Parts: sequence; C-alpha cells; structure tokens
Amino acid sequence: MKNIQCKVFGHDYKVSRHVTYHVKEYTCSNCKKELTTNSKGNLTELTPKFKEINDVLERIHAKRRMRLKNFNKKQSENLLATA
Ligand SMILES: [Zn+2]
Repeated sequence: MKNIQCKVFGHDYKVSRHVTYHVKEYTCSNCKKELTTNSKGNLTELTPKFKEINDVLERIHAKRRMRLKNFNKKQSENLLATA
C-alpha cells in the first residue's frame, strides 16, 4: 500500500499547478492526494469546488497579466491623445 509511506513520513507534495502568484495546487507524489491554497492562504484539500474556483482564478490572473502588458502602451497613447 502506497499510502503507508505517507502515513509514516507524511505526504510528499509537489506543486502541480501555478494558479496565481499566491495560489498553487499540490499533488502528493506517493498517493496523489491534492491540496490547494484557499483564499485565506491556508492549504486545503483540492475538492472539485476548489478546482472550479482555481480555474476561474487562473483565467482572471492570465487576463490581468495581459492587461498589464498593454497598460503602458495604452497610457502613452492616451497621453498623446490629450496633449
Ligand atoms: Zn501522500
């Protein structure tokens, strides 16, 4: 039984997904148990509900990063328009 090792030594969690800067998903390399960071910054079991939340967070995060990239360009365009 693989889980015996986890019971004795504890889980061996590895980051399996970077959702945002603060939220990550972890998977135990032995028993495949999954954890995630919740909104309070604590680790909690990765339930289907949390998976859904993380999917949304990931999408928002990706969008925000893209917007930041365009922000400087847009700002200079606006400055030029008002000058
Ligand atoms: Zn484990």
